[in-house]
Amino acid sequence: MKGPKPSALQKTFVPRQGGVGYSMDSVVALACTRCGRRHDPDSVTYTCPEHDGVTGILDVVYDYEGLADRLPDSLPDGVADMWDFAPLLPVGDGPVVSMGEGGTPLLDAPTLSEALGVATLVKDETGNPTGSTKDRGSSVVVTRARQEGRDVVTCASTGNAAASLAGYAARGDLDCRIFVPANVPEGKAVQPLVYGADVLAVDGDYDDAYDLCRTVARRRDWYNRSAAMNPYAMEGKRTLGHELALQGGDDLDWVVLPVGNGCTLAGTWKGLREFERLGLLDDAPAMLGVQAAGSSAVHDRFHDREPSPGETTADSIDVGTPHNAGKACDALVESEGTSVTVTDDAILDAAKTLGGTEGIYAEPASAATVAGVREALERGIVDPSDAVAVVATGTGFKDVASARRRIDDVESVPADPASVPEF
Ligand SMILES: *Cc1c(COP(=O)(O)O)cnc(C)c1O
Repeated sequence: MKGPKPSALQKTFVPRQGGVGYSMDSVVALACTRCGRRHDPDSVTYTCPEHDGVTGILDVVYDYEGLADRLPDSLPDGVADMWDFAPLLPVGDGPVVSMGEGGTPLLDAPTLSEALGVATLVKDETGNPTGSTKDRGSSVVVTRARQEGRDVVTCASTGNAAASLAGYAARGDLDCRIFVPANVPEGKAVQPLVYGADVLAVDGDYDDAYDLCRTVARRRDWYNRSAAMNPYAMEGKRTLGHELALQGGDDLDWVVLPVGNGCTLAGTWKGLREFERLGLLDDAPAMLGVQAAGSSAVHDRFHDREPSPGETTADSIDVGTPHNAGKACDALVESEGTSVTVTDDAILDAAKTLGGTEGIYAEPASAATVAGVREALERGIVDPSDAVAVVATGTGFKDVASARRRIDDVESVPADPASVPEF
């Protein structure tokens, strides 16, 4: 392996007051979400060996009593980045591959609240280093890849995970090979190329890209970050829950997330739930999962409905066969939450609403949360007296074409003051 860049080493583990260390010590097992068998983290890398394919998704199990002892007496008022929660993250001692991911603002949103008719906050993840929540997972996975001496990382992705992994691989000086569906938005294909990754647009959809990536990665021994099958990718997303707990506290009634594979929702819930368990949060909010009407496999499973295949413009949540549907549904049950679906029209309108009310330019998948709040209010799921936090999971800059469908063309004018309209 090539030597680490000095920049990747800048952020080193420094014990905090109280002697908090950062290590894998608190990980006690990888538990199969299907059969419950527990595996030694040193002997299993991806899924439960008892099942074929990727059906035995593993969950990282921590020793919460041990963790409680390792946490500082009081948590920081503000969060600089997600590595403020390092004692809770499953990496070994040593440098982490970080670009300052996490530590994102929970913005008040008075104009949006008025437009929706419910008190709404926006957890703005668009400012993450590569533009999406995926950076929380990539930072953990690439750190682990380095610590395990891997040279090549790979993943299949609807776009953001690929861009994110490619950015962190560059930062961590690892090679990166990614597999995206043929219809990936241009911005999401260009971004990983700029980060120096090899990008393969697979003739097929996300499911085809996922299977191809898995087969090739196994044959060539590349470290695979693909959603759900790598148990550690979701673990970084717990920090989204930790931050929501610190920033929103017991005031939040709902956390609203877009759902594709289900990892983001399940990871966020795991973070909220463990803060409750650690006595850092009294009453965790309910989770509201939002899917596109044209890609609603998790919603269908949760509500015991026949699957209804379709399509959606919200590419990040366009997942035909979600790999973490089980964990996502468990999170909805445990949190006493639920899921809704929204149409593409509602999603594109919501993107304009979010931009026009609060100046947040989010991609369609993220805007789906705003449409989801509307839907949940109409259906009496969310009460107008509740407080909700919508998570803007990704920036809109990577997919200008979607937003264009809801905005007027730029007006051309001669360079003459008389031609500037009154407005
Ligand atoms: C990946 C992604 C999602 C969905 O997350 P899942 O873990 O696949 O459910 C939502 N929004 C954005 C911007 C994403 O990149």
